Amino acid sequence: MSVLDFSKISKHMELGRDAEYMLRKSGQEHYANLSLKWDGKLICADTYVVLHSQVRGPAKGGIRMSGKVTLEETRRLSELMTYKCALAKIPFGGGKSGICIDPATLTPESRRALIKEYVHVFGPIINNGSYVPAPDMGTTPYDMATIYGCTHIPECVTGKPPRIGGLPGRVEATGYGVASTAKMAIEGILGKAVSDTSVVVQGFGNVGRWTANFLHEWGARVIAISDITGAVYSEGGLPVDKMMSAKTLEELDLPRISADEILTLPADVVIPAAVEDAIDANVAANIKAKVVIEAANDPTTVEGQAILAERAIPVIPDILANSGGVIASYIEWRQAKSGSLTDKSETYNAILRQLSNAYADVSDVVQQKNITHRLAAQILAVEEVVQSMFDRGWI
Ligand code: NAD
Repeated sequence: MSVLDFSKISKHMELGRDAEYMLRKSGQEHYANLSLKWDGKLICADTYVVLHSQVRGPAKGGIRMSGKVTLEETRRLSELMTYKCALAKIPFGGGKSGICIDPATLTPESRRALIKEYVHVFGPIINNGSYVPAPDMGTTPYDMATIYGCTHIPECVTGKPPRIGGLPGRVEATGYGVASTAKMAIEGILGKAVSDTSVVVQGFGNVGRWTANFLHEWGARVIAISDITGAVYSEGGLPVDKMMSAKTLEELDLPRISADEILTLPADVVIPAAVEDAIDANVAANIKAKVVIEAANDPTTVEGQAILAERAIPVIPDILANSGGVIASYIEWRQAKSGSLTDKSETYNAILRQLSNAYADVSDVVQQKNITHRLAAQILAVEEVVQSMFDRGWI
């Protein structure tokens, strides 16, 4: 099922039957049962690589490693990447990989062997530049280093550690983009200064922790953060900079609350930065924040979206809010192809420039058509992809 509601989109643009048909289908879907014998035991992982669209460039999207990965989830995430890249106006299509295995069951050595097996099986589409992977939930820059070690092609993978061709600033890029988008929404929608704002973040992984850290640095009060181990809370604001060295929140000696309450706490801004479907109908009905920033992919169910729209709570959608990572990936890919060097400020500037433009475009459409930020972002992204189909002579 598409992430888009085509009936809503076609009310605002001439979509055309052929374009809709192409968008509804993945361009390519690859499956393998990755298996290897390790320490006398068989390790198996259903693995999917979905290239939703390559019309605007190589299919770009991370590798998710989790015991809950499905083909349907990988399809949705791949499609989201198509629209995210189009909205940010970077020359990539949308792709995604899902490796269905709990990373906690792997040792560093068996994990490396599994990633090598992934490259062995999916090598043809990685080596020829059709699909450019990056980290997502459950994978890290070191896994990308393993991929580079197999291919020896610097531009075939992004999110690598800086010492081996990675980009300074890539690790925090998604969080920097989410925090910057939150700042634009706080100033533009709430009419407040960031330093006068309280924030709640669900997730303390790559995206959640860096988002919280930037907002804390810019003066916001980050009053609560949760992860899989629970949640921590401080009415006066958490010391996020001092929390960054902890792997999980349970390592920290801070006041705790139930993780179930996190998204419905009284705060100006709520940021789901962990898993999909976190904001369902029940959570949406009880959210007290004045704006929601979607840092995770697909964190709000269709029912949750409808309730938030009814309650007139603005939601800055994932394809806009979390595109900092893929914008940085584009800079890393360009650096790898050209052999040039990039410094951290260039990474940050590129993220801010592409995001500010996309945010302004979306805000204009919201004003002109009196629609949600999600629908406005989708319309702009689809227009860009459809126009690219015309340019390529596909439709
Ligand atoms: P991660 O694996 O680094 O962190 C995930 C975090 O979520 C961890 O802190 C984990 O404990 C927490 N978590 C898991 N289940 C939870 C639950 N039920 N309640 C509360 N917390 C829970 O992953 P990440 O890279 O930070 O990705 C988070 C989200 O952001 C995903 O949806 C991912 O697709 C999206 N995203 C990531 C990037 C990126 O560059 N990493 C870019 C764009 C979007």
